[in-house]
Amino acid sequence: MTAETRIAQAEAVLAPVFASFDKASAANTERVLAAFARARVSDSMFGGTTGYGYDDAGRQALDDIYAEVFGAPSALVRIGFVNGTHAIACALFGATRPGQTLISAFGAPYDTLRGVIQGGDGTLQQHGVRYVEIAPTDDGDIDRAALGEALEGLDGGAVLVQRSRGYSSRRALSIDDMENLFAFIKSQNPTVNIVVDNCYGEFVETREPTAVGADLCVGSLIKNPGGGLAPCGGYVCGRADLVERAAARLTAPGIGGHCGATLGQNRLLFQGLFMAPHVVAGALKVNALAAQVLSDLGYTVSPQPREHHGDIILRVDFGTAEPLLAFMRGIQAGSPVDSFASPEPWPMPGYDCDVVMAAGAFVQGSSIELSADAPMRPPYTAYMQGGLTYEAGRACLKKVVASLC
Ligand SMILES: *Cc1c(COP(=O)(O)O)cnc(C)c1O
Repeated sequence: MTAETRIAQAEAVLAPVFASFDKASAANTERVLAAFARARVSDSMFGGTTGYGYDDAGRQALDDIYAEVFGAPSALVRIGFVNGTHAIACALFGATRPGQTLISAFGAPYDTLRGVIQGGDGTLQQHGVRYVEIAPTDDGDIDRAALGEALEGLDGGAVLVQRSRGYSSRRALSIDDMENLFAFIKSQNPTVNIVVDNCYGEFVETREPTAVGADLCVGSLIKNPGGGLAPCGGYVCGRADLVERAAARLTAPGIGGHCGATLGQNRLLFQGLFMAPHVVAGALKVNALAAQVLSDLGYTVSPQPREHHGDIILRVDFGTAEPLLAFMRGIQAGSPVDSFASPEPWPMPGYDCDVVMAAGAFVQGSSIELSADAPMRPPYTAYMQGGLTYEAGRACLKKVVASLC
């Protein structure tokens, strides 16, 4: 069977799944457009500022638009966040005080956040914040009994909830999961701040965590909400006092969100957000298509092609090194940038084994663009995400199928 035939067969099976992604994209696009209209977005906002960045009308409008789209009272959208880790770190420092506790509700947080919480200089731990991690239950759920116990008697502090599976074997949380979880947390202890790591989750569903009870929700602009156009940056949205404290951490106390030159980048942040619902729907289609063709070829995938998607990441277990490397070569060969490169495993800092990565992105490290990462150890799992257009993702998957067969 040719790669084209395999892909076309998978597409036929997935038609209803694709329709559900399009439906979410339509609703999210309406929400984004309504926020643009309310903020009276106009060409004059795209130029931006230099120096201190006072009175940047575009920056202010973007904050207002993100707040509305995310169902939050307030938002801070800045190119000064160097990545998602930085934005989440500012949010966590804003949401906790010395002597309080930070609880990670569903296992270990994303790798780069470990270094924010514990270890060296400048960590939350060094600032006197205690850290508690609630391991998932044996069947991969949130351990509510243990979480309830950890919440008992706390006066303030924060609970970190990661929406996406990240690069782990746990599942992503749906908005319904989170709505339930947040109600539980607040019923156990209304004084704690719920902070959601929203990376890879934006626009997958038609509501965001701040619309269902999160106090803060944070993400990276070189993932979903930047729509592939934002060149860098991050956002924090949620309760105004907590957003202000995150802003004080990003810049300085007393300055907060009032300064920060936008250096001519505003248009890309507006346009990226405008594109984001559509781009995310395309990435979800690429995810489901890959899940379908790879499971047809006998590999284990998660989520299943027709299962609920809580984020844009697909996990594939290849079992042995050879098909994993063939998959990575296919992804690289089908990328718009660096298609000629050959992905090789290398000893990446922070990992106990070699890691292989495939990416050919317009924006360095952008993972709303089609990309994949894999630690070279059993069960030889690849994590794949992104895709700026469905057509390019489809073309890339044809290379993957050809490389595997
Ligand atoms: C990408 C990501 C982050 C932040 O990573 P950066 O590379 O610093 O942007 C945090 N949490 C999750 C779940 C992520 O996917």
